Parts: sequence; C-alpha cells; structure tokens
Amino acid sequence: MAEHHSALGLATALRPVQPVTLVRPHAARRAATFFTEKFPGRCMYAVKANPSPDLLQLLWESGVTHYDVASIGEVRLVSRTLPQATLCFMHPVKAEEAIAEAYFTHGVRTFSLDTIEELEKIMRATRGAEDLTLCVRLRVSSDLSKLSLAAKFGAELDDVKELLFATRQAADALGICFHVGSQAMSPDAYANAMEIVRAAIVEASVTVDVIDVGGGFPSTYPGMEPPPLERYFDAIHRAFESLPISYSAELWAEPGRALCAEYSSLIVRVEKRRGTELYINDGAYGALFDAAHMGWRFPVKRLREVPTASPYEAFSFYGPTCDDIDHMAGPFLLPADIQTGDYIEIGMLGAYGAALRTAFNGFGSDETHIVNDEPMDTLYLGDTHESEPDRVV
Ligand code: PLP
Repeated sequence: MAEHHSALGLATALRPVQPVTLVRPHAARRAATFFTEKFPGRCMYAVKANPSPDLLQLLWESGVTHYDVASIGEVRLVSRTLPQATLCFMHPVKAEEAIAEAYFTHGVRTFSLDTIEELEKIMRATRGAEDLTLCVRLRVSSDLSKLSLAAKFGAELDDVKELLFATRQAADALGICFHVGSQAMSPDAYANAMEIVRAAIVEASVTVDVIDVGGGFPSTYPGMEPPPLERYFDAIHRAFESLPISYSAELWAEPGRALCAEYSSLIVRVEKRRGTELYINDGAYGALFDAAHMGWRFPVKRLREVPTASPYEAFSFYGPTCDDIDHMAGPFLLPADIQTGDYIEIGMLGAYGAALRTAFNGFGSDETHIVNDEPMDTLYLGDTHESEPDRVV
C-alpha cells in the first residue's frame, strides 16, 4: 500500500480514474486507544464493521485483544490474522458446522444465543462442552438509534426466564447481551436496556457472570452529532454497578463503528454534472450504501490544488451503475463551480462502507492508499455557508 501525506496530495499526484480508498491508521489507533482506556470494561471489536486485515492488525497492536465475530468466515479471518486473539461468536443464529469448527479448530469458547433451540445446537456441536461462556441476547429497543437491530434477534423479557435458567445449567459462565441498534444517539439507550437486563436477572434469579452491552457507540456525521462517548461510558458504568450481580461479574462492549469510522474515506471523480446532480464513480453498490439506502450525509470536500472563491451549493450524487436507486440524496455541500473531472473526498466511510462494497456492473476498485492527514471535519456546514473555507479546498 503506497503512503501519501494527504488526500489532496494524492488526488493531485495520481489523478485516479477509479475510486480510491484512503486509510488513516493513526485515526483507528487513536479510536482504539480511547475506547480501551476509557470504557469501564472489556472492549471487543465487532469485525463486521470493517474486516480489513490491516485494520485488525493495528487494533491488536493498540490493545484490542477480543473480537466479536458473526460468521465462520470472520472466525477464520481473525484466527489467521491474529492467532493470539480471543474470539467470541456473537451471532445468535449459527450453523451447527460453524459452531463445531469455531470450537474445535479455532478455540472459540464464547457464543451468543436467543432460543433454547440455539442452546441445544451449541451443546450438540461442542459435544456437551463444559468450558463455555454463553451469552443470552435480550431484545431491547432501538428507538434511540439510527439503525434498528430490534426486530431480528433477542429473547423477549417475558420468555427469558426459562432460557436463562437452561443456559445457566449448560454454561461455565453465563452472560446477558443486547444491542441497542447502531449509531445510538443517546446514552439513555444503554440505561434503558440495562433496566431490561435487571428485570431479566430478577425474574430468572440466576447468577450472571458477564454483561455485554453490544455495539451502537456512535460517531459524528453531518447532521448527527451525538454526545461524547464518555457520557455513554458513564451511563453504562452506573447502570452496571447497580445491577443485582456479583462483584466479580464482567462488563463487555462490542464496538464496531466507534473504532473504525474515521479509518477510511474515499476519493471519487465527478464524471458528469447535471444541474445540482453529480455523477460520481462510486455509489450505492460501492462504499456509499448508507448514503443511498439510509439517506446518510457523509462529510465531503472538493480536492483542488488551487482554491476558488465559489459559494457552496447543495448537491446530490448518482453512482456509476445503471440503476436509478444508485442515488445518494445528500444534500452534500460543495463549491457551486464544481465540474466534471473534479475530485471529491467523502469521509467517515471506515465503518460498513468498505465492508459493503460490491463490484456490481464492473465498477469499484480495491486501490487503497495510506494517508497521514487528519480525517475530515465532520460538521455539516449548513445551506447558508457563503464561501468555500480554505480548509475545504
Ligand atoms: N455486535 C453485534 C452483535 C452486532 O450485530 C453489531 C452490528 O451489527 C455490532 C456489535 C457493532 O455495532 P456498531 O457498529 O453499531 O458498534
């Protein structure tokens, strides 16, 4: 991977024909160090957010020793990349063959589940293992989060007593886990979920060894400015301390986005302008899935060596494939005189952007460069911004 000083330097020097992914190892290191130092428990990286082996390696070097994996593919990837890492298989619905391979070949000892059927599957696949940490996933609200994870998984409080009881009998250590939805915009999401955990523990009257608050820790995007992560950590710590669990119980978290959102951005080229619609060479089937399907606005800046004094204007993007849905509504604020051939950096794509990329229609590219400038300022500049500030050009 070639290394350049900045996104602007790279675009100017290479004038890339294909979209180019930029990675900023220093930003991911900073995020990992922050989380591992400040979170009042164990930090376990959710690999699905960005499974790049380079990222896994640098998270490991930054002190992340545990990894939340959700498929046998992720188990194999992390085992290969970080043989010393501890893996936790936190998908509540797994193939029996995947459980067996994870346990017998890769040494995985922690699994999540949300039904008796899954518990039976785990016990069959591991041939009645006696060294398991089994985490029962509770259904909690995603109402305070931007992306819901409330519909698909999680035992209802009303039915959890029997499941917790049966899991306690089978497990060496019993955990309770949940996920408040991705990009949780308030610490209350976790405080509310912890109340459901409390009710479940009281209802089942079992000894719980692990409380795993899942992912959901937010990053800052244009138009989405959550409180600082410390406020989330404080709310979680307070709630954890007040649960009816033993002094030795452990607190875990599974951050994905919070560790890797700033890790990468993308340089795209404008291939055509039609009014305020820019046709760019990456889109919904590339790294911009969330911009297309969730309507997220990502920070953007034009990469031009010689600044112009153009006012800003609101643009939308079309991606390169032939589909109408390959459209990112934005609005994305860019200089009004932007034109075909201009390069744009789109920031904050390290979480889920790279991971969701496809090669549909023959578009997309794996070209990746390391840059050591700072990730883009994520503040949405507002429709009334008069002129292009120096830092943007
Ligand atoms: N843990 C589990 C079980 C998940 O399903 C996810 C995301 O889907 C995560 C952790 C990571 O979530 P986030 O990226 O919001 O931190």
